[in-house]
Amino acid sequence: MNQQPKVLVIGLGLIGASFAKALKSRHAAYVYGYNRGAGVAQQAKELAVIDEVVDDLQSLPPLDCIVLGVPVLAIAPVLEQIKPALSGLTLLTDVGSVKGEVVTIVQQTLGELPACFVPGHPIAGAEKSGLAAANETLFDDHMHIITPLASSSAAAIELVTQLWQACGADVISMSVEKHDEVLAATSHLPHLLAFSLVDTLSRESENSEIFKYAAGGFRDFSRIAASDPTMWHDIFLTNQSALLAVLRRFQADLSQLEQAVEQGDGAYLKQVFTQAKQSRDHFS
Ligand code: NAD
Repeated sequence: MNQQPKVLVIGLGLIGASFAKALKSRHAAYVYGYNRGAGVAQQAKELAVIDEVVDDLQSLPPLDCIVLGVPVLAIAPVLEQIKPALSGLTLLTDVGSVKGEVVTIVQQTLGELPACFVPGHPIAGAEKSGLAAANETLFDDHMHIITPLASSSAAAIELVTQLWQACGADVISMSVEKHDEVLAATSHLPHLLAFSLVDTLSRESENSEIFKYAAGGFRDFSRIAASDPTMWHDIFLTNQSALLAVLRRFQADLSQLEQAVEQGDGAYLKQVFTQAKQSRDHFS
């Protein structure tokens, strides 16, 4: 295995730049960076997030790996541009929060699933976005899920594992379908609930005055409603069926809770709250 793989990160935002910075600062790769629009990649070089700027995706240096750090719905146009470079590559991977749709996009754009392609998703993040939010310790002791495909080569799986472990992540493998189901329940649904609750309360309250009275519980619950709307728009549009399945189960349970409150059914409320507390106590 190459001692210092040559890695190009396309999309130097929170995740892409944090990954680039972690690789560079740990001497785990020689890192090239590309971002649309003038200035971002240059700034990343000045901040020592990357080693070298790539200006043109159609004229790439020799690479071992390309990491797609762009939002899910920006992957197709990027792939169109880097198509010619894929034949010599050991690894093509992404960081998208949904996996089924990314696989479909790659298949449709390239006409095949190349052996170098291993989808991935770091289970770490923040409500901030962009290069300024880059943090080289973001992935330390966090999971990085890879969803290798039947077409993925052993060399690609080995390199993706090596790179993310070098960034401090615990790399685990699961199927695309399981990933999308699990993340719909543990990440996508909670974000939808937080966006929805904060929106409802802010529309009911003049100048969001109600938030003045919010205590720690609301602060904890609503923190993720400050996440990037475009990124979450992409996620909800691309993990539709898994999200709808868990949302409908949740709506049914919520209706039962509504009924219990209406009917003063304390026993039911206590039973649900006790079960939930036991589950939450176990997981922390
Ligand atoms: P971000 O907005 O911080 O970064 C995206 C970067 O890609 C920006 O610098 C943007 O300018 C650039 N970009 C967009 N379109 C481009 C294009 N066509 N060509 C080149 N550059 C382009 O977003 P992020 O939070 O880093 O999210 C990136 C991906 O990571 C998303 O797919 C998201 O689902 C996933 N993800 C995010 C988190 C999180 O907590 N933010 C966690 C895990 C995974």
